[in-house]
Amino acid sequence: MINKYAGHCGTCSARVEVGAGQAVNVDGRWNSYHHGCVPVRVAPPAGRHAGWHDLPVVGFDLEGTLPEPAETRIISAALVHSDGTTQEWLIDPGVPIPADATARHGITDEMVRGGGQPTREALADLGTAVAKLIADEIPLVAFCAPYDVTALHTELARHGLPAIDWDRAVIIDPSVLHKEVEPRWYGSKQLGDLCRYYEVTLETAHEAASDARAAVDMARSIAARHERIARMRPDLLHQAQIGWYAEQSRDLQSYFDRQGRNETVSTQWPLETKPRG
Ligand SMILES: [Zn+2]
Repeated sequence: MINKYAGHCGTCSARVEVGAGQAVNVDGRWNSYHHGCVPVRVAPPAGRHAGWHDLPVVGFDLEGTLPEPAETRIISAALVHSDGTTQEWLIDPGVPIPADATARHGITDEMVRGGGQPTREALADLGTAVAKLIADEIPLVAFCAPYDVTALHTELARHGLPAIDWDRAVIIDPSVLHKEVEPRWYGSKQLGDLCRYYEVTLETAHEAASDARAAVDMARSIAARHERIARMRPDLLHQAQIGWYAEQSRDLQSYFDRQGRNETVSTQWPLETKPRG
């Protein structure tokens, strides 16, 4: 973020006037830097240890009409297997796509009306594919999983389709893993920001197959760089993330409270059963 106070540059020691550089938190301390002097964060190197990152996993991503997972209508979905096999859905939600959603993922009403599958048929197919992966005990990798899991769960119920047994699922959420291994990270934690840090290629941000592929690569990159994460049995890692997410959400909630922001952060992972505040 732009520096609100004048100071001396943490790299070159010359003066940084108010608003002329950036304030960056390094190991818990705020320092000022000239724009060109900001230190580059480097992720720890990958190790040679074995772990779940050597085993098959499947990336899962959805794009929808709205940011609230219990309200959104799914318009695209992708399952990307770690061997490269990809399943994709383009869905006609039967309701207009808001302009801000189209601005984010580039999917227009015309695109879904022309080439999208009818909602119920596509959701039945997607639900069956996800349920099969869960039955086969294949970990599903989803970046910010509560959005994708809650949206799919709600859409299946909305259309009277069979529910997925999420209690049997093994979910790996690289957003939760990142916050666990980098608790002092104060910068932006969007998929694109973290892809740069973990040296992961993101072909087209907010395109379901690209996001799902990046989520898989990021989860594996984190495990390769953090042996304690890699060594956890996937089902136990799933259980651990429930607790990590709740703790991470409580930290975010106290930050919002200090800022006077009237926002309620969900502590539920990976399925939100209570509506967001
Ligand atoms: Zn400088």
